[in-house]
Amino acid sequence: MAAQHDQADERELLRQTVRQFVKTRVEPQAMAHDESATFNVELLRELGALGLIGVTIPESEGGSGLDATASCIVHDELAYADPGFALGYLAHALLFVNNLNNAASPLQRKTYLPRTLSGAWVGAMGMTEPAVGTDVLGMQSTAEKRADGYVINGRKTFITNGPEAHVFLVYAKLADRITTFVVPRDTPGFSTSAKIQKMGMRASTMCELIFEDCRIPLDNLVGTEGGGITNMMRNLEIERLGLAAMSLGIARRCLDTMVSYAQDRATFGKPLAEHGQIQRYIGESYAKVEAMRALTYNVAATVGPTQRNRLGTDAAKLFCATAAKEVADAAVQVLGGYGYCAEYRVEQFLRDAKLNEIGGGTLEAHQKNITRDLTKR
Ligand SMILES: Cc1cc2nc3c(=O)[nH]c(=O)nc-3n(C[C@H](O)[C@H](O)[C@H](O)COP(=O)(O)OP(=O)(O)OC[C@H]3O[C@@H](n4cnc5c(N)ncnc54)[C@H](O)[C@@H]3O)c2cc1C
Repeated sequence: MAAQHDQADERELLRQTVRQFVKTRVEPQAMAHDESATFNVELLRELGALGLIGVTIPESEGGSGLDATASCIVHDELAYADPGFALGYLAHALLFVNNLNNAASPLQRKTYLPRTLSGAWVGAMGMTEPAVGTDVLGMQSTAEKRADGYVINGRKTFITNGPEAHVFLVYAKLADRITTFVVPRDTPGFSTSAKIQKMGMRASTMCELIFEDCRIPLDNLVGTEGGGITNMMRNLEIERLGLAAMSLGIARRCLDTMVSYAQDRATFGKPLAEHGQIQRYIGESYAKVEAMRALTYNVAATVGPTQRNRLGTDAAKLFCATAAKEVADAAVQVLGGYGYCAEYRVEQFLRDAKLNEIGGGTLEAHQKNITRDLTKR
């Protein structure tokens, strides 16, 4: 019982720490980075200094030794102010750092963890290819083994943090088996494309990764040859939870904005909050936020480095992605013309929310996974 209290206190402290940081450091820069479509790397380093990059990494490896619930708290709070920045953080902290830590050799831990846990180096992960997204197992990038290392050829696309990253976790087929490699930016044969412009999440950036006879030493194999699918699937679960938590942060922000606006703005001689149709937007949005919170944190409690819950993480992201988009849309509607314009930022949250129906698995991919898992039983 005492241990449970300690854990609850620790999580509350974490939430208050992140909330304070978000208010003073994240909120003030968010609109400018949405407008300029740039990722704030210095802000990521500030999170590193607070120990918030290694939330899921054991203390023995230099992390904070917390868990998937703590990771959700950070993503939820960051997305309340800046979903795009939260996505860049997710790509760094979960897609690179957490993924690497789960399978890395002692040498790889020593080489990459300290630099990426502090944010001195930015990380990214390359799975998707120009011709292969949902059907990821059909990837076409190849790795060939030579006496002194591996040679990678292929192209990855839509890679978050690609333009800024110093180091990449990359999946390629070695003798037709998906395998994970770590590739520093200065590796011969590696390059990146120009930035890819996008609709939302503009405070994070993305580009293609290009491998042309890219030579890496044998030491850059992560885990085992052919072990890439396990790394990928295990990490997709915590990624989906992070995206579900970001959806929750987006929806909380949009709900708060519409509630406040509906009290201040009057039409036909009374506040918007007294019009029944506006009450429907607010009431339904509140119910969605509460459902998102319950589902996301319930599932988070069942996920860990040795604990898998594919069904739960698919369900959390499937539900939360669409619910957040609906709540953001309701906020735009409640604010009318002000909602459609930039000042209150709800139009930005609507653009940002849409990504979570696509990235980290599309809605259709979640529907198929859930049905496959349920019909197997
Ligand atoms: C902003 C952003 C950031 C991203 N960051 C990263 C990153 O950091 N690293 C990375 O590796 N990837 C990243 N991605 C890629 C993302 O994971 C893919 O876009 C996603 O998995 C979908 O793949 P796709 O775009 O190729 O769509 P496709 O697979 O071509 O699908 C197109 C449409 O068809 C549907 N569809 C496909 N197959 C089926 C089927 N069998 N049945 C029914 N419907 C189907 C899909 O659901 C979708 O609606 C990012 C994408 C975006 C937009």
